[in-house]
Amino acid sequence: MKLFLFSEKPPPLPPQPASSLPSAKERALGAYLGFALGDALGAPVEFMLPSEIRATHNGRLDQMCGGGWLRLKPGQVTDDTQMCLALGGAMLASGGWELRAVADAFVAWLRSRPIDVGNTCRRGIRRYLQTGILQAEEMREDAGNGALMRNLPVVLGTPDGEAGDAEFARRSVAQARITHGHVLSDAATLALGRMTRVLLAGGGRAACREIADELAARFPAFVFDPWPGRVSGYVADTLQTVFDVFFHGASFEECLVEAINRGGDADTIGALTGQLAGAFWGVSALPERWLRKLDTRIHNEIIAQTNALLSLKTL
Ligand code: MN
Ligand code: MN
Repeated sequence: MKLFLFSEKPPPLPPQPASSLPSAKERALGAYLGFALGDALGAPVEFMLPSEIRATHNGRLDQMCGGGWLRLKPGQVTDDTQMCLALGGAMLASGGWELRAVADAFVAWLRSRPIDVGNTCRRGIRRYLQTGILQAEEMREDAGNGALMRNLPVVLGTPDGEAGDAEFARRSVAQARITHGHVLSDAATLALGRMTRVLLAGGGRAACREIADELAARFPAFVFDPWPGRVSGYVADTLQTVFDVFFHGASFEECLVEAINRGGDADTIGALTGQLAGAFWGVSALPERWLRKLDTRIHNEIIAQTNALLSLKTL
């Protein structure tokens, strides 16, 4: 099986002139819309092998095609974006942070008969519904992507600075544990969130790389260089792939196309790659042809939610 590896690390990118650097708001919108684009682009090839994607999509998928196992419309998003919107909506409704409001929003989402739901998410939401307990039992084996993939609103709506860092960690782990009681899920959620916070504050890929290296040093399951080639829905496989793509890609578009063509949990890998790449390059780097196809209701909700979450930061 030929993998879509980047053959060489590209030379460092020339620094952008100061006038073209994206603003904080452009980075935040880039992250959230980039996330939704990755979800909608990758979902039609979720659970496929790269060879199957090549055979079905003329060598390489680089447009909003719809279809796949969920029989999606082009531009339709899945559980990844929906869970983010549920979490972000709960933060806004409670004016900041109220964990029970987050859990209740997940219940309302599950009752809305979503197009897909991960097994661990379903189990955790049902447990909360039946017992009122906000924390999943500790899991030993199952560290799926469910908690990691929905944490972006916490990144966007939590204050900056050192006090904000502690609050960000507390909120991230609390929302994650509603469904996922796994140390690697917590570590992945925190590391990706910290990287996104760094990017939103104007940091670059070198600072993100330090966070990724620290994560890999603490938990060898996350060692990503060289890329081990796994794309399951396991948090370690997912972040290895997201890191490899984001650290090597030359543009938002190149990162997303590379991410989804690796197959496996392609929508989630695409979404998380879009979160980082969108935060780094900003919303103006998102291809117009993809944004035009993105579900209009979702597009509008993300813009409104991003603005409102950013204003929570300073409360
Ligand atoms: Mn999904
Ligand atoms: Mn997925």
